[in-house]
Parts: sequence; C-alpha cells; structure tokens
Amino acid sequence: MKRSSKSRKSPIQLVRDTLKGKRGINTYVWMYCMLFVILVLVTIWLLQYVCLSNYYRSAKISSISQEANRIIQAYGTPEQGHTNRTIAYENSMCIVITDEDGNPLTSENNLGSYSRLYDDIENNYSMYIYKLKNELMKASDNCYTVTFENDELDAKEIIYCAKIYVDEAPEQAYLFIECTIEPIDSTVKIIREQLIFVTIILFELAVIISVFISTRVARPIAKLTKTARRFGEGDFNVKFEGQGYREAEQLAKVLNDAVNDVRKVSDLRKDLIGNVSHDLRTPLTMVKAYAEMIRDLSGDNPVKRNEHIQVIIDEADRLSNLVNNLLELSKLESGNMELDLKKFSIGEKIEDCMTRYQLVIEQNGYDMKFEPDEDREVTADPDKLDQVIYNFINNAINYTGDNKVIRIKQINTEKAVRIEVTDNGKGISKELLPKVFDRYYRDAKVKRDVVGTGLGLAICKEILKCHNFPFGVRSEEGKGSTFWFEIPCE
Ligand code: ADP
Repeated sequence: MKRSSKSRKSPIQLVRDTLKGKRGINTYVWMYCMLFVILVLVTIWLLQYVCLSNYYRSAKISSISQEANRIIQAYGTPEQGHTNRTIAYENSMCIVITDEDGNPLTSENNLGSYSRLYDDIENNYSMYIYKLKNELMKASDNCYTVTFENDELDAKEIIYCAKIYVDEAPEQAYLFIECTIEPIDSTVKIIREQLIFVTIILFELAVIISVFISTRVARPIAKLTKTARRFGEGDFNVKFEGQGYREAEQLAKVLNDAVNDVRKVSDLRKDLIGNVSHDLRTPLTMVKAYAEMIRDLSGDNPVKRNEHIQVIIDEADRLSNLVNNLLELSKLESGNMELDLKKFSIGEKIEDCMTRYQLVIEQNGYDMKFEPDEDREVTADPDKLDQVIYNFINNAINYTGDNKVIRIKQINTEKAVRIEVTDNGKGISKELLPKVFDRYYRDAKVKRDVVGTGLGLAICKEILKCHNFPFGVRSEEGKGSTFWFEIPCE
C-alpha cells in the first residue's frame, strides 16, 4: 500500500516536478494529454463563438433572400397580405414595401417598436427608407444589404432591400426586410450554457484519464529502474519485469539476459579465484613439504631424495601447466589469437597426436584405435588443432572406463571432415553436459590425480570458435562420451 502511494503522483506533484525541471515520462504524457484536451476545448469554443455566428449569418442571409423572392412573387396578388404576415411572423421580421418615393404601400412588423424601419415610418417620414432606396438604385444588383448593430435589441441586424418589378403594377415598388442576423433564441443560449458544463466535465475527465495513462506508461519503467538500482547494488538475483507494453517487455528481456550474463561471469570469477588459488596452494604445499623432507630426512639417502625431488618436479610441472593454460585461455578470450592457416592431411595429424601416447598406452594397457576415412587435406592452424585433438584424447584417457577402450574416428561427409573421440567411461550427466566447455568447469567427484587444470575444453572451445568449426559432445551416463568437431571442406 505504502509503495503504491509513493509511486503514484498527484497532478499537483506532477506540476511541481515539472516546474522544478525534473520531468519524468509520466509528466510528459500528462502534459501532452492535457495539451490535447485544451486544444480540443479551444477548438470547440472557437467553433461555437466565431464560426457559428458566421455560419448563422450566411444561412440567415440566404434564407432572407428566399423569403424576399416569395414576397416579390406574391406582390400584387390576393395572397400578398397573408404571405407577408406569415413570413414576418415565422422569421421575426419587419417587412415594408414602398413606392418610388419611399412611401409605405404595405408593412408587417414582428420586431416590435425596436425595428428601425418601423421607427422610420412612424417618426421620420421614411427618411431612412428613402436613403436605402437611393443606395439600391445605385447598386448594380437588384438587391442591396446593410448590416448594423441594433442597440435596443442588443443584436446585429440586416436590412435587405430589393426592387420589385411587376409588369401589371402601375409603378415600381421596393421591398425592405429587417431582421436580426445573430442567434438570439433560447436554444443557442442553452447550447452555450451546456458547453460550459461540457468543458468542465471534459476537463476533469481529461485530468483523471491523463494521470491514469501517464502512471500506466511510467509504471513499468519506474519498476525497471528500481530493479536496475538493486542490480547495480550487487543483487544478481533480480528479475526485470516490463508488463504493460511491448517496448518495456523487450527492455526487460534484454536486461534479464544481461543479468544472466553478468551472473555467469560473476560465478565464473568466483569459481576461477577459488579453483586457481586451490590449485596453486596444493602443489606449493607439496613442494614445500617435500623440500623440507629432503632437507631434514632424505638429503643423505639418494633413493629417497630422488623420489622426493621427482614429486617436487611433478608438482612444479602441474603448476607451470596451470599457469600456461590460464595465460593461453586469457589470450584466446581476449580475441588476440592469430591463426596460421595451412593445408595438411588430417589423418596424418591424428596419427601424429596418437604416437605421443604410445608409451602411456603400452604401460597402462589402453585400447586406443584410429578409424580413418579416405584421407583429406584440410585447412586450419595445425598447432592449434593439435591442441584440440590432444585435449580430447587426453580427456578420453583420463575418464575412460575399466575396459580402457578409446576410439578416434574420421568421418568424411560431402561438406566436412568430422573427427570424433569416444571413450566408454562413466559419461557426463545431462545437467553438467552443457557446462563442460565452460572455463574451469570440473566434475567435483573426479579425483585430483586424474584431472588437469579444468581449462582444457575451454581452450578447445576458443580455438574451434576462432576457426568457425562446429563442435560438441554427446554423452550418456554410465556408457561414455564422444567429443567431436567438424572441419568444413572448401
Ligand atoms: P580437465 O583438465 O579437468 O580435464 P577439461 O576442460 O579438459 O579440464 O574438462 C573439464 C571437465 O569435463 C573435466 O573435469 C571432466 O569432469 C569433464 N570431462 C571432460 N572430458 C570428459 C570425458 N571424456 N568423460 C567424462 N567427463 C569428461
């Protein structure tokens, strides 16, 4: 509860943050949402006040001219009086028809005493109407309009003047129509009042929705940041979660992959330090112990002394082997390895590697055989490949079963030469299988005298990766393992 109230910001806090200059993604989303709503509202109000009156005005003028036509058509007919009355009533108009001198022939007033035409007839001997008539005479059209502000009615008005030509009539007549051209009726008032309510409601809704959206957008990022902070503080057991939208999920996935990599590296580093220090300490302890023995006990006994010196030499060899392997691996992993590519016979290379084990095979009774295919020339760095084959064979010898059978196979395919080194030892468990090529991976159950440095396969992996040769291992617990790699043919 406490946490969520902390992460959710009120609009006031958002505004404060904005003013302080520390704008977060939610502030931006909130700001843009509000801006959008304000723009929508401004547009509606503009439409209501500016465009509506213009639209109303042009609609009104076109309706006046239509009504004027109706009046002109009815002029001189028996329906004239009725038509004029109806039109004046329906449209709140003052309609006056005058003769050439401006004297009213007929009039209908539905604007009350505020009508300018009516006032002119009543009080000014039709002076204003006479003036309008003169203007109409000068106009190129048959009609002439004048707009003005009627202060008494508090509205804009229009006077539409038109000539009436009737063949049968004894003289020319003139039509004058006065009416307001602004929406002054109650519907418009109600619409305007409602618009105020709509604005208030819309504004409140916009605030709520924009705060909701902005917190929803920002929440996954805030969550990711929080997790990243924990990760930065050294907690590698974090899990990034980015539910909400695709980008956040993708970011969470990338970060989780990075965490896994960092966790692996960290575990490896810990293992490496533990293993290296252990493997350095053990031979050093032996060297010291045997050196002391020679000094104190066996110095005068040549047989014992030589035995002890041999132990010191063996342990020194183990130490230098470990250091060499570490150096080799770090060189390989730093990407500084340069391959000295040459063409050579793969069969000869394997046989050459095997001869080095001849003595060990004879002394310990190993059944090691090479099953060659048709000889092929391959392109690789011979010394580096030698290291790989040597390591695979060495491991097969170290981990083979009691029948001591080891098989090295060359299998030619159309596109590659595949080399397999198989032993029938105790095999590797399914859980450990994916890790055997990892640096310093070592089966904990294996005895110290058997194993080397735990770096051999990691070195093989780097060499094969550098050559772009596919490689791998098949193994079944209790049955044995097969380590393989393929050299693609050109
Ligand atoms: P090491 O110097 O310990 O042999 P490697 O990197 O060559 O180091 O091998 C890593 C680990 O993989 C070994 O410690 C062993 O547990 C396992 N391993 C390697 N080859 C075999 C094999 N042929 N049979 C069973 N386990 C093996």
